[in-house]
Amino acid sequence: MSARFWSRSRFTFHLKCDTLVNNMSESFNVVIVEEREKPIVTMLEDIRASLARDWRTYWSAASKYEVMCGLDKFVVDLVAAECSCRKWQMSEILCPHAISCITFKGLDLKSYVADCYKKDAYLKCYQGCSSSNLLQQKTITKLAI
Ligand SMILES: [Zn+2]
Repeated sequence: MSARFWSRSRFTFHLKCDTLVNNMSESFNVVIVEEREKPIVTMLEDIRASLARDWRTYWSAASKYEVMCGLDKFVVDLVAAECSCRKWQMSEILCPHAISCITFKGLDLKSYVADCYKKDAYLKCYQGCSSSNLLQQKTITKLAI
């Protein structure tokens, strides 16, 4: 099977999706197997602590930054909207590395959200649907973007 079907390094940026398989919940369960035995508050706090990573951001050149955590290291270009992890380019959803750079520089995260995830795109997508008025009244008002 060609690597373009199973390797993120070979995916195109056209589809805006970096999900390769549908067993993400199983992977998550493996990670939290010890926490699942704890009382609910302790479990949630331990899961939160295990997911939170201390990303350190360093300005590199012009619009480029290096983001490091332990041995992991990524290069982010805020102008090109690219990260070496490729998740930002693939889904247009900000990866943790890009978020780290944007907050490091004190910029507005909302300005980096892709148009396809904004309220106008949502409304345009569902215009003409019979329940669109209901969606506008109940759901859209909750969207911040
Ligand atoms: Zn990234």
